[in-house]
Amino acid sequence: KITLFWFRRDLRLEDNLGLYYAHQNEKRVLPLFIFDTEILDKLEDKTDARVQFIHEQVQRLRDELASYQSSLLVRQGKPLEVFQSLTQEYNIQNVYTNRDYEPYARKRDKEVAAFLQGEGIDFYDFKDQVIFETDEITTDKGDFYKVFTPYSKRWLQKFEQARITLVNLDGRKKSFYQTKPMPLPSLRAIGFEASEIILPSPKVDNNLIRKYDQTRNFPAIAGTSRLGIHLRFGTISIRKLALEAAQLNDTFLNELIWREFYMMILYHNPEVVDRAFKPAYDRIPWRNDEKEFSCWCEGKTGYPLVDAGMRELNATGYMHNRVRMVTASFLTKHLLIDWRWGEAYFAKRLLDYELSSNNGGWQWAAGTGTDAQPYFRIFNPASQLEKFDKDRKYVKRWVPEFGTDNYPDPIVDHKAARKRALEVFKKALGK
Ligand code: FAD
Repeated sequence: KITLFWFRRDLRLEDNLGLYYAHQNEKRVLPLFIFDTEILDKLEDKTDARVQFIHEQVQRLRDELASYQSSLLVRQGKPLEVFQSLTQEYNIQNVYTNRDYEPYARKRDKEVAAFLQGEGIDFYDFKDQVIFETDEITTDKGDFYKVFTPYSKRWLQKFEQARITLVNLDGRKKSFYQTKPMPLPSLRAIGFEASEIILPSPKVDNNLIRKYDQTRNFPAIAGTSRLGIHLRFGTISIRKLALEAAQLNDTFLNELIWREFYMMILYHNPEVVDRAFKPAYDRIPWRNDEKEFSCWCEGKTGYPLVDAGMRELNATGYMHNRVRMVTASFLTKHLLIDWRWGEAYFAKRLLDYELSSNNGGWQWAAGTGTDAQPYFRIFNPASQLEKFDKDRKYVKRWVPEFGTDNYPDPIVDHKAARKRALEVFKKALGK
């Protein structure tokens, strides 16, 4: 009999709690990865760099597992069907995995667990992706927070009390299922091709994090960690990173708390996926001008900071946080285009795409979300440029024609657009 350990968003051997417990409790642990066609078939871009990233990580895991005289069982298909066929091929006693909190993942895991149970196979899942799960941070009365600041205070309090330790697989060679390397399908075999986008390294730069509070707002410099994709796919451990952050920089730790805050919001309010967190804001009659939307997507709005951001995103799969805020505010307020359009565009392009943070970020910018920020606070893209890219270094990097006749005029006038947004929001909200 064997135990399967199912890798999903935790693509590492180090400090992987589910994998650790599988080895603690079981013998003959065989790791498994499924290229999930329910997700992959929905991706329109067959050069999607995120798939390449996952493929590379799966390959790395398989190589690392060879040093334990084990390997990685790799399958492609709908997870439930894959498990149906695996139960025919192997004599499986248990399946171990780490919990994933997104709506799709919860449904998938429920179905898989129910099927396995019917076959007499136990399904165990563990907390690994977060420091605190969606129901661990509550008020004294046991309610879930809807506002970030009190949530973060409570989070920090609990973090200080929690004695977090890291785990490893030292001495665990024997509890792996011993096998020769198992086959790994090529990227092409799973229907994708290599992309030109450069994938960021998982290296944590302590010097950068130490200065993070001073550097994080300036898009021209490498002042943020670029660890988003690694947190998304678990190629670094959140426990290790949070422990380091607590030593190095409180502002950085605070950003990791935002990540868990938005996960908690999505978990308890799954309707936010396509509705405003504040329901009244679903009454806003978005203009949704398709031509203007294209200008925004292509970085041709005539607002340099917005254009630089969109072009950075299109070219690299990354956009600096300050500029994400400015471009999102511009789309929803200046152009009055539905935040869901922008959210979907980011979802397609961002390497670090995370449903909960993207949704939270977009609803924040549109004013429809958890934030108490009033709708009438509208970013001025020109003053944001002045403050955060004073010498235009970032803009010139991404918009080479900036300052020449080839650079387009603004597609909307800031003052007029601001006035229009205020009127539309006021009327819709009955203010
Ligand atoms: P750093 O600044 O180095 O921060 C470290 C980590 O903290 C990040 O990797 C991320 O995991 C977390 N983090 C930082 N800021 C936030 C935040 N505001 N909310 C939640 N987590 C945060 N973040 C995503 O991870 N995925 C998204 O799809 C995403 N979409 C966004 C959309 C909009 C409109 C906005 C305004 C923000 C969005 N963010 C998203 C949050 C933030 O912009 C990115 O996490 C950050 O820019 C990633 O760069 P970094 O890894 O260098 O982050």
